[in-house]
Amino acid sequence: MTLIKIKRCTECDGTYPNVKFGVRKASPDGLNARCKSCINAMHLARSTRPEVQAAKRRYFRLHRARPCYSTPAAIEARRDYHRGWKRRRATRPAREATNSKAVSV
Ligand SMILES: [Zn+2]
Repeated sequence: MTLIKIKRCTECDGTYPNVKFGVRKASPDGLNARCKSCINAMHLARSTRPEVQAAKRRYFRLHRARPCYSTPAAIEARRDYHRGWKRRRATRPAREATNSKAVSV
């Protein structure tokens, strides 16, 4: 059963049902002190700050230079690897069925 309670947001001072607040297990009532709209506005305000945008650009510049796995050469290399794996698997001896719980007396 979900009990609907009314709670006041510490940011905008509005009163809303508890479904308008995010979960925060550390707080006594298990909910965030700010309503979801205020949290969203806070995150939006932060993400548009120039220093945050500069940090994002720096991060993507550093981490974009990773190998691309969708080039034709990479696709063919991956296909070769899987063909080899299938071949190796087909030729290896079958494992014996083991069931540790089945004990014959
Ligand atoms: Zn609010």
